[in-house]
Amino acid sequence: MLSPYFWEKKSLSELNSEEWEALCDRCGRCCTLKVEDENTHQIYDTHVICRYYHLSTGRCQCYLQRSQKVPDCVTLTEKNLDSIYFMPKTCAYRLLAEGKPLASWHPLICNNHQEMITAGIAIKGKVIPETAITDDLIYHLTDLYD
Ligand code: SF4
Ligand code: SF4
Repeated sequence: MLSPYFWEKKSLSELNSEEWEALCDRCGRCCTLKVEDENTHQIYDTHVICRYYHLSTGRCQCYLQRSQKVPDCVTLTEKNLDSIYFMPKTCAYRLLAEGKPLASWHPLICNNHQEMITAGIAIKGKVIPETAITDDLIYHLTDLYD
């Protein structure tokens, strides 16, 4: 049972595992493949989604083994929040780590997932699986998530 507005009463490092998992809105934005400029280290988004992302359910199909199957997949915990800059600007963990409130469309605020979809946050319908592309990721950059 989640305590109302727990994310406003505790820091990220104080959350229990149930609270930590509840913060994830399952938008899928962190599961799109990224391109890093090797000179500037700037990260660019693509509209290509990880092969383990289930497009219908919005869930990872290898959640418990994700670090082994996809070495680049950042398993965010309270211990590696310095990796948070990899996460999308709309990500609940990043927002809270930066001292910002959750967005009004977040399921913990509005009690449904529809507002997140209406706000254009979920990636469903906007991505193609990495198994479907044959050319370089550089040809699939997008600013959809800026
Ligand atoms: S971007 Fe953040 S909120 Fe969205 S699915 Fe990834 S971890 Fe969850
Ligand atoms: S392994 Fe799972 S959590 Fe990691 S990027 Fe792929 S779908 Fe997302």
